[in-house]
Amino acid sequence: MLDESTKTKKVHTINISDDVYKRVKSHIQEKGVTFTEFVNTTLSASLNRHKLSKMYTPYITEDFISDNAVYLNDSKLNKIAIVRLKEFPDTDLDNTGFYAYCEICDSDSCIHVRHSLVTGSILKLSILYKKA
Ligand SMILES: [Zn+2]
Repeated sequence: MLDESTKTKKVHTINISDDVYKRVKSHIQEKGVTFTEFVNTTLSASLNRHKLSKMYTPYITEDFISDNAVYLNDSKLNKIAIVRLKEFPDTDLDNTGFYAYCEICDSDSCIHVRHSLVTGSILKLSILYKKA
């Protein structure tokens, strides 16, 4: 069923894998939005994230993403920052799951961690899919 925005504007058809479609459908039912609203909002947010990261961290570029780490080239430090996901220890009663951690800064809140969160590069690490 088409909502108001698709009746009056030109629309484009895309192919979505069945796995992603099922995951998104479950998510949008919880959020109470249409599939079209979700796709348009998500794609716009993705473009805005990249625009923001170019303003916020113009000296950091994504070098490589392996199965378990994001490698960021920092031209200010002239170093490669390695950001990984670490699991919260069992003793941490306030947090569960993962947090992003930068090995060169020995920090979970440095500019490299923030860059990987804003661009979403940290979300590409396969450890997240193994836990899901
Ligand atoms: Zn760092």
